[in-house]
Amino acid sequence: MTDAGSARETERHTGAAPMGARASGTEVPGPKKPNFVRDLLAPAAGFGVTFGSMFRPTVTEQYPFEKVPTQPRYHGRHQLNRHPDGLEKCIGCELCAWVCPADAIFVEGADNEEGAQFSPGERYGRVYQINYLRCIFCALCIEACPTRALTMTNEYELAGPTRAGLIYEKDQLLAPLEDSMLPAPHPMVPGTTDHDYYNGEVTSVAPEQVEWVRENRPEEPALENFKDVTAAAPQTGAADSEEQA
Ligand code: SF4
Ligand code: SF4
Repeated sequence: MTDAGSARETERHTGAAPMGARASGTEVPGPKKPNFVRDLLAPAAGFGVTFGSMFRPTVTEQYPFEKVPTQPRYHGRHQLNRHPDGLEKCIGCELCAWVCPADAIFVEGADNEEGAQFSPGERYGRVYQINYLRCIFCALCIEACPTRALTMTNEYELAGPTRAGLIYEKDQLLAPLEDSMLPAPHPMVPGTTDHDYYNGEVTSVAPEQVEWVRENRPEEPALENFKDVTAAAPQTGAADSEEQA
């Protein structure tokens, strides 16, 4: 131990300044003198922070009874998006799975076939799983996705009683079906290519798609939203301009 350290140690144990300190003229504070008022108020002073906080606005969050909204770009549960006609955006390319640093994604692609078209183009994601026991919500998979099929929602309540339950399947990750969409499988909008879909040129369900679903999946509940749509209905702006002419 150094001389200074030794001197401090002596003072701590004995309450007296070491000889060396006095000899060198160092001022050593003595014990505090009793002060009646100060000693009387000491317990109240200890509650100063408590009393001060009692009159400040409450910052405690009453979760889970009241949920505080997240920041808009919060990285929450993933979502597999759909095109406006209901076809899936995922093409089963597996880029998201390869880029994932936690090996949390499993994708198995398959070919779209006539009568079983799930996405525009040749391939779709037949199996899609995300393991939320592994995911670190880094969003690298979102960056890698070439079709913007994969995005993240603000949902953060990802807990469960079983490990298996935290491996989300494709049906849990697919975006909710809007009233204006027909769920896959069904053919692409007639006359379009996958590029038209990626360029945002397909904006709604075509009557031919409705007819196809009526014939092949008559039990499809979403058909309720297309009761008045028939393949004979006018579908393009060209038809409108003919009427005007
Ligand atoms: S957010 Fe990150 S860790 Fe989670 S699945 Fe995507 S790439 Fe993997
Ligand atoms: S989510 Fe995107 S990156 Fe992942 S398989 Fe589908 S298209 Fe490919």
